[in-house]
Amino acid sequence: MSESGIIVISAPSGAGKGTLVARILPFYPELALTVSATTRPPRTGEENGREYYFLSRQDFEAGIEKGAFAEWAEVHGNLYGTFKTEIDRLLLRGRHVLLELDVQGMLSMKAQYPALTSIFIVPPDMEVLKERLTRRGTEDAAVVAVRLQTAAREMERQQEFDYVLVNDDLDVATEALKNLVGSILNSHR
Ligand code: ADP
Ligand code: 5GP
Repeated sequence: MSESGIIVISAPSGAGKGTLVARILPFYPELALTVSATTRPPRTGEENGREYYFLSRQDFEAGIEKGAFAEWAEVHGNLYGTFKTEIDRLLLRGRHVLLELDVQGMLSMKAQYPALTSIFIVPPDMEVLKERLTRRGTEDAAVVAVRLQTAAREMERQQEFDYVLVNDDLDVATEALKNLVGSILNSHR
């Protein structure tokens, strides 16, 4: 019997994780991206239930109390978490599961699913990261500063991951991630 694969992708904010994941997902219809919950406000164009389940801090904390999250963490001053139901629903349907988590989230998931594969995406350097975050224009300067501080701490933990992928040229990184995810999924066939 084939077993579902769980892949966790992490990256410092602005490294290009969302862009890369969006580019490779169409190649793997058997792989489903989980929708996380967060207390951060929606960005322009983001929809509740699509990018995230946007919750008030009170509702998020009630979820923690009830044990509704497979993992959760405080990242850049906001709470982020994955509902247990979100993972179980996909695994029960025999889908492979892709989660975009921070480093803490990856480690909590690894404790529950030791066979998962983890990938960390890094920018070529911190200057490029700052440029990308600023150019994206979704956060104001103060929030960008907090994200850059978190990024420096996260970069130090890249050795905790199974694979580290540098996102310099977008097409090259897309091809590398596509091949890596393809080989991980193949190992579950
Ligand atoms: P993350 O999801 O890791 O926070 P995004 O995918 O939103 O990051 O990427 C941050 C910004 O950098 C976006 O504006 C995106 O278009 C841009 N970007 C992503 N990858 C590259 C790349 N390889 N070269 C140049 N710009 C990139
Ligand atoms: P953003 O606010 O840019 O969408 O996400 C910020 C950070 O939160 C990213 O590093 C992302 O990986 C992390 N994140 C998103 N969802 C989750 C989640 O469900 N759990 C954890 N632990 N981190 C998450």
